[in-house]
Amino acid sequence: MQHLLVVANWKMNGSLSSNRELVEGFLNCWGAGNGKTAVALCPPAVYLSQVSGLLQASDVELGAQDVSSASSGAYTGEVSAEMLAEMGCSYALVGHSERREYHAESNDLVAAKFAAVQQQGLIPILCVGETLEQREAEQTLAVIGEQLRVVMECVGESAMENAVVAYEPVWAIGTGLTATPEQAQQVHEFIRRQLGDVGSKVKVLYGGSVKPSNAAELFGQKDIDGALVGGASLNSEDFFSICSAAS
Ligand code: PEP
Repeated sequence: MQHLLVVANWKMNGSLSSNRELVEGFLNCWGAGNGKTAVALCPPAVYLSQVSGLLQASDVELGAQDVSSASSGAYTGEVSAEMLAEMGCSYALVGHSERREYHAESNDLVAAKFAAVQQQGLIPILCVGETLEQREAEQTLAVIGEQLRVVMECVGESAMENAVVAYEPVWAIGTGLTATPEQAQQVHEFIRRQLGDVGSKVKVLYGGSVKPSNAAELFGQKDIDGALVGGASLNSEDFFSICSAAS
């Protein structure tokens, strides 16, 4: 049984040639995997088709970085969950802090995206996390509790069973700063409790400057079930090393 899930978030990086090099480089090392870790790649939407083809002979899955809350129609530039399903996605990130910050995505919009993803049979990866100001003001658990509450009220507690939650302290994303394993564990345990009866069944990932040097210690924490990896997922050897860090 695969206990860990490691998801690559390429953000707005890549090209046809560099994607091929990255995926082939990773798959050459990863082969049939380690039996403990499931892996998914989230390239930019325009490359989903290409990456889907590159992953065809592997068990590495495909995910999207964002999704529309609407199913179809006059929403210029948006991509629906149905389209993502057709392109072979198994996962879609919702509520990444860069979407919340640069696109003013509210908890309500994130909840609507979450519901749209599940309606198409995909697994939403719900990103939650506090800013540095919120952590310093000791609001971490309140902020994350509210981010979870709005989604759970929209979809119902039982729907969380078919979801993944990613705890990503905003101050640790792309900064080189990582929450200590103890800081992360404390929040992960809180998230699991907030999820109620389904909490023990939900994968709770950590994200925020995960790299080969800190992955094993993070994965060693009781309530950390894997990672959402940004920067380090753009290097096939680093990403392979993180995916191999299951103890
Ligand atoms: C992310 O984008 O979700 C992320 C965690 O980025 P990084 O690993 O670069 O901090």
